[in-house]
Amino acid sequence: NNLYDRFMSGPVNPIFYSFFVKAKAFTAGGACTGCGQCARLCPANNITIQNGRPAWGGDCTHCMACICRCPAEAIEYGKKSVGKPRYYFQGE
Ligand code: SF4
Ligand code: SF4
Repeated sequence: NNLYDRFMSGPVNPIFYSFFVKAKAFTAGGACTGCGQCARLCPANNITIQNGRPAWGGDCTHCMACICRCPAEAIEYGKKSVGKPRYYFQGE
């Protein structure tokens, strides 16, 4: 961790995340059972279950845990994820 690293992770990361990493495109479709797994797995605590449905906040890191680990495959990211496979490493 030298000075350059600290500079890059100081001002650059917040700017990068605020402009390029958006959670607004996440939606849960009709297959959602309200199980809450997406909220439990989100490392940023960015998902809350409201009235039995997930709601995404603004602190997403795009780790894709929610979309890939939903047991009902109910989550989509806009139209980009439609029809695409979900995957994750065993042991996560
Ligand atoms: S993990 Fe899937 S089924 Fe469970 S609450 Fe989240 S979107 Fe709904
Ligand atoms: S992509 Fe990752 S950080 Fe973003 S809402 Fe889903 S689980 Fe949370």
